[in-house]
Amino acid sequence: MPISVYIPSPFRRLTADREYVTVEGRSVADVLDALDQRYPGFANLVYDRERKVPTHINIYLNNQEIHDLQGTETAVSDGDQLAVIPALAGGAAGGGDGRAAPANAALTPEEVMRYSRHIIMPQVGPQGQRKLRNAKVLVIGAGGLGGPVAVYLALAGVGTIGLVEFDVVDLSNLQRQILHQTKDVGRPKLASARETLTAYNPHVKVVEHPLPITSDNAMEIIPQYDIIVNGADNFATRYLVNDAAYLAGKTLVDGAILLFDGQATVYKPGSGCYRCLYPDPPPPGLVPSCAEAGVLGAITGIVGSIQATEVFKQILGIGEPLVNRLLLIDALSMEFRVMKIRRDPSCPLCGDHPTVKELIDYDVFCGSSPLEVPVSARA
Ligand SMILES: [Zn+2]
Repeated sequence: MPISVYIPSPFRRLTADREYVTVEGRSVADVLDALDQRYPGFANLVYDRERKVPTHINIYLNNQEIHDLQGTETAVSDGDQLAVIPALAGGAAGGGDGRAAPANAALTPEEVMRYSRHIIMPQVGPQGQRKLRNAKVLVIGAGGLGGPVAVYLALAGVGTIGLVEFDVVDLSNLQRQILHQTKDVGRPKLASARETLTAYNPHVKVVEHPLPITSDNAMEIIPQYDIIVNGADNFATRYLVNDAAYLAGKTLVDGAILLFDGQATVYKPGSGCYRCLYPDPPPPGLVPSCAEAGVLGAITGIVGSIQATEVFKQILGIGEPLVNRLLLIDALSMEFRVMKIRRDPSCPLCGDHPTVKELIDYDVFCGSSPLEVPVSARA
């Protein structure tokens, strides 16, 4: 029976750029075989040497992950939709000391005017605005994703914004990284980020962490903040930040971009983590980085704005967080899909019998030497 399969843009080089492919099959395995017959090499993307679906690939049948069904033996029927989704890493490249008002101080007349479009909303009000002023948010990477996140947090009056970044501004960053301008090429990203954020809002305290985040410093930096935003552009940093946020009991607002695709989700300790979704990183080279494959600048704005929105909801305690849901964005079709995800009881980090109890060597875990994959970001 004909089954429609959604092909994400990183895999479309095999399918002649087709977004949907219709093939015949009675099970998920049949469908994957049919895809490989039509597009030789497809099986190499979705199977490992033992012909199992590797853990960096998730396959969704009608928005449900097939591990929650019968795996590749799951039967399919007419009208079903299959989606093959790899882990993406793209985020930021590389990695104003406004004095915050006392926690319970009333808003000044200037603040009331500045934030009036927030304050008139019943979900925010002056109390919510003070919560934003008291909040401390850490943004990993001052690049493609970290830029829109940090700008919207600053505009909204989030009182303390930490930035982890050690890279300098490169001309090739300016196609998408809105914290930096042409005059900043060659300067440290943190310097131009601070200038931009405090120019937008001098009330915001920008805390600079001018280092790559590593297993040695992550547990010193992350516990200082309420919420962590991931804008890292490589898998080693993604797993490191995931593990450190979980071990520190912090909510992680995750986002990733590549080509025309974006992903976003929120991990709260106890409700699953990045390792539940992707227990292992893809082998080096399978999923290209933004530097290798490119990324549409505007998609960083879409995903970063979604991450900033999730941060506001967390701080204000409103709405339904993007927890246990993975938002997938395809900018070419402009379709947004939401996949259900859940905590994996066998997760080595947040499962019932964890084996990862402290930070590990993530470059070794990701199969890359530190020289090949700087723990900074280049998104
Ligand atoms: Zn987990």
